Amino acid sequence: MYYREIAGVKVSALGMGNMRLPTLEGQDNKIVYDKAQEIIDYAMSHGINYYDTAYRYHGGESERFIGQALKKYPRDSFLLASKFPGHMMVKKENGVVGFTSGLAGWPDNTVAGVFAEQLEKCQVDYFDFYLLHNVSENSLGIYDDPELQVVEFVKRMKAEGKVRHLGFSSHASSAATIDDFLTRHEGVFDFVQIQLNYLDWTLQDARGKYEAITKHGVKVVVMEGVRGGRLAKLPEEQMAKLRALRPEDSAARWALRWLQGLPEAAVVLSGMTTLEQIKENVETFAAPDPLDEEEKALLAEVADIMLDLVPCTGCRYCTEGCPVGLEIPKIIAAYNGVKNGDFMSIYDPDKVPDMDPRRCVGCGACSRICPQGIEVPAIMDKLPEMLRPPRF
Ligand code: SF4
Ligand code: SF4
Repeated sequence: MYYREIAGVKVSALGMGNMRLPTLEGQDNKIVYDKAQEIIDYAMSHGINYYDTAYRYHGGESERFIGQALKKYPRDSFLLASKFPGHMMVKKENGVVGFTSGLAGWPDNTVAGVFAEQLEKCQVDYFDFYLLHNVSENSLGIYDDPELQVVEFVKRMKAEGKVRHLGFSSHASSAATIDDFLTRHEGVFDFVQIQLNYLDWTLQDARGKYEAITKHGVKVVVMEGVRGGRLAKLPEEQMAKLRALRPEDSAARWALRWLQGLPEAAVVLSGMTTLEQIKENVETFAAPDPLDEEEKALLAEVADIMLDLVPCTGCRYCTEGCPVGLEIPKIIAAYNGVKNGDFMSIYDPDKVPDMDPRRCVGCGACSRICPQGIEVPAIMDKLPEMLRPPRF
């Protein structure tokens, strides 16, 4: 494992994301503890010291799991990062907040109450890194609220030693939103976590965001480096091109090596679900091995071909709010597959009710919460035609 730094702290270049832990089939909040613990133990014994979670991951169970999993290790042997869920809050009276979207139905709380609950669930008395979750055009109402004073609160937690370093994550649609927030809070944040990979470099202006962050002297933490697995499974035609240059390397390794070429990207998070994934990733991060110019040009070509696919990362923010319980990310994966000519993606919607796009009622709840801005109902409209017999 090689290391970089954030505000003088030595961080492993590969970080363990805890939003895609192994779970019981179809039950995102039922983490399979023994399998997940094996992954954490492997990470700890192979030099990974950065562990990222959030209030909402795995329906609130990720914090509980990682607290339990890391408990047997000395507190100074790992760095724990969690996130304040302002992006899913609605303001009520007298400093009380309620929850919306993926946290709809959760009991009302306060800013301080949420933070205290997070420390308790993680079984720690301080966070090494604490982030405001998804500072974006849609959440500024909460993060800038003069009564809730979220930024002042987290600064106070830092002053009290309950947080060592502050940051925020962002799915903002514009780099200017990130730049402006950093400018208004100059010197407060040591890092910003953004979605960054070779496809989003242009598709979601990750380049503009990276530049907006680093010009403030702030480090970048990378999320969705393989786009929720999307960049780990390229169409055969694209894979053949990559293999011609590096026969042994997987698509995921190409994506991660591309990230290694960004000097200010301190940690690359990967939401690892299996031991095989973490083993391969640990190998990839044994030493920096960024792409050379020829390799970069080839990957840019591959990215160009994929730009018209639907950019779903499989984050599942949309699924809890779907009134008819559709498996939206799976449906989008199938849509991309069929569009790509992958006949293995074709299925019979009559036989898989939770993947039947005809059940969509077009309410738009999914699109409103989707960090990628995907127009899900439009996909649900088009897909039945694409799946039509005699193709299956
Ligand atoms: S628009 Fe369709 S897929 Fe999206 S939440 Fe509503 S019913 Fe579900
Ligand atoms: S459609 Fe959007 S919210 Fe739903 S899984 Fe995909 S990226 Fe996430």
